Amino acid sequence: MTAALATSLALAGLAAGWGLRAVTARYAVPAGEPHRRSCPGCGHPAASQRPRFAPRWLSPRSFSPRWFLPRPSGRCPACGQRTGPPPFAVEAITALTLAALALRVHPGLVLAAACWLAVCAVPLAFIDAAVRRLPDLLTAPAYAGTGLLLMAAAAVGGHWHDLLRAGLGGLALAGFCLAVAVVSRGGMGLGDVKVAASLGTLLAWRGWSTLLAGAFAGFLLAAAYGIVLLLAGRATRKQHIPFGPFLIIGAFAAILAW
Ligand SMILES: [Zn+2]
Repeated sequence: MTAALATSLALAGLAAGWGLRAVTARYAVPAGEPHRRSCPGCGHPAASQRPRFAPRWLSPRSFSPRWFLPRPSGRCPACGQRTGPPPFAVEAITALTLAALALRVHPGLVLAAACWLAVCAVPLAFIDAAVRRLPDLLTAPAYAGTGLLLMAAAAVGGHWHDLLRAGLGGLALAGFCLAVAVVSRGGMGLGDVKVAASLGTLLAWRGWSTLLAGAFAGFLLAAAYGIVLLLAGRATRKQHIPFGPFLIIGAFAAILAW
């Protein structure tokens, strides 16, 4: 039963990963720039091509390209330039994460909350790694969806105590990150604070110790990465590294260690 659930979630993750690749390509632009709708190299608007089912008299120009739909290979079909994360990285990570969550997280509604957060967190991690941004368009639905699904889990199972702890835990981790952001003067951004709110909520649902473990793992990974960069001479002391991917990896490592 669990194996069947893990397999179906892995397949769903593969399919969702393709959509998340499009989300990543769209929002991985520097702050202030418009969302990406075409290949940055040649301007090839993959999404504006006439869909196969459309009548012939509709010219490709009838389809305004709102979304650039990148190939899983991560390269533009026209000019071959990289248009996003490495080949199949988003797809494989989403599939593996959802399958692993299916094996570790119960009951169903809590699993749904964890999967929802994962589906939001994967593009967030890739976007932050690429352009050091965590767009509100992803952090807001991550928090809202996780909160609503945990509320449903509390209502079904009567776990109001867990829900209260989850809410407080999310605020606590967000507050801690906000304090770090103020003290470090830009080392951590407001996007990190918003991601921490969602991650903290899910971590604290399991318990305070899971919240501590997840947060500690995230900061430890970020510190280790910073030290490696410094030792390799690829960063200076003043340079800021993206925190989001480490917070996300640390949190999901703690969640999978349930
Ligand atoms: Zn191109």
